[in-house]
Amino acid sequence: MSTTVENGMGGGFSNTGREKTYKKTTSSALKGAIQLGIGYTVGNLTSKPDRDVLMQDFYVVESVFLPSEGSNLTPAHHYPDFRFKTYAPLAFRYFRDLFGIKPDDYLYSLVNEPLIELSNPGASGSLFYLTSDDEFIIKTVQHKEAKFLQRLLPGYYMNLNQNPRTLLPKFYGLYCIQSGGINIRLVVMNNVLPRSVHMNYMYDLKGSTYKRRASRKEREKASPTYKDLDFQDMLEGLYFDAETYNNLMKTLQRDCRVLESFKIMDYSLLLGVHVLDQQHREGGEAGPAPGGGDGKRPVVQRVLYSTALESIQGDGKAAEALTTDHTMGGIPAKSHKDEKLLIFLGIIDILQSYRLIKKLEHSWKALVYDGDSVSVHRPGFYADRFMKFMSTRVFRKTQSKWAGPSRGGGGLDLDLDLAPG
Ligand code: ATP
Repeated sequence: MSTTVENGMGGGFSNTGREKTYKKTTSSALKGAIQLGIGYTVGNLTSKPDRDVLMQDFYVVESVFLPSEGSNLTPAHHYPDFRFKTYAPLAFRYFRDLFGIKPDDYLYSLVNEPLIELSNPGASGSLFYLTSDDEFIIKTVQHKEAKFLQRLLPGYYMNLNQNPRTLLPKFYGLYCIQSGGINIRLVVMNNVLPRSVHMNYMYDLKGSTYKRRASRKEREKASPTYKDLDFQDMLEGLYFDAETYNNLMKTLQRDCRVLESFKIMDYSLLLGVHVLDQQHREGGEAGPAPGGGDGKRPVVQRVLYSTALESIQGDGKAAEALTTDHTMGGIPAKSHKDEKLLIFLGIIDILQSYRLIKKLEHSWKALVYDGDSVSVHRPGFYADRFMKFMSTRVFRKTQSKWAGPSRGGGGLDLDLDLAPG
């Protein structure tokens, strides 16, 4: 029996009754192995003194065997024997530190609290787990994606180091679980959509129109993730004040250039829209957070630059002021109908460029279908089209300023009702 949460949002909490498996491994065995493995490796790292990251650190793979009967290094457990590999442990420790994640907090989030399985992940068949505190997502990745991330790391983190205010995915760990001849690779990354805020709409946007409509199966879900064509049908755009709009565009532009420099494409903007007005009209509270959340982000925020508001460029002052005003890290915006919104967003799915080769047939068909609108194209073209779509169709500038649900001042005198009470 497995407990799953649709997309980690307030919407659909489903009990599938049949436990999911990944490469013949049950989800519970996988969760158990993740927690035991990360518990060991993070604990082990504390004995290693802090020092500057060197190039060779990116190629280190640490490995430990965890037999079910236990060993002098590892505890006994109820799962089959497995080996746990940690890629570039010192480099990832440095990156976690860059985002203010202390070893104890990382351990607590990933190991001490239950992991929540997301029930409606993407088409790739990956499993996704969310930590109970909403901070981290664990995604199973293919061998080629893990290899790609390893190669990407030094350059990618050079960019993040220079510019931590970014909507690019932040990877906090890369691991592999080996058992019975099976390898399961995992990345730990930042969670874009806090489960504690009810998302009225979710979108996965690429700036392409070819086959960019959510399937019927997806639409039938309690919390569907819509696509580009759906967005155009549903919303005329999301309206921001000029400063926020400019900050958001600057961030996206910079991020797209980084991805282009690594020849990455086919990434998506994951977008969550929380409608404040609607919730108020409907009488506010929407019940407790699925998966045991208490409905609030931790009062003391542990991960730096982790919210949408903090991720976008600017001097950070406006963001700080708003964060304390219960925006839950979302960016205040308005719909074309003047509804007040909070926007949550981040770029996801950047490790799959290699899949393009397999998609040649698809891209050929798409080319015939509508010329330039293929979702697979040159990285520069992809980035430009992505930016154009975001800056004109999705995000728009408005004159009237809405600064979020603030207490006093020029904003709104609304208290944000969090979905989970
Ligand atoms: P596809 O093959 O369809 O591109 P995939 O299996 O590679 O999918 P992603 O596109 O990375 O998966 O993500 C699928 C879904 O998982 C997203 O639509 C989103 O709902 C959720 N998701 C992925 N990454 C994150 C994240 N960092 N934060 C929150 N939710 C996420």
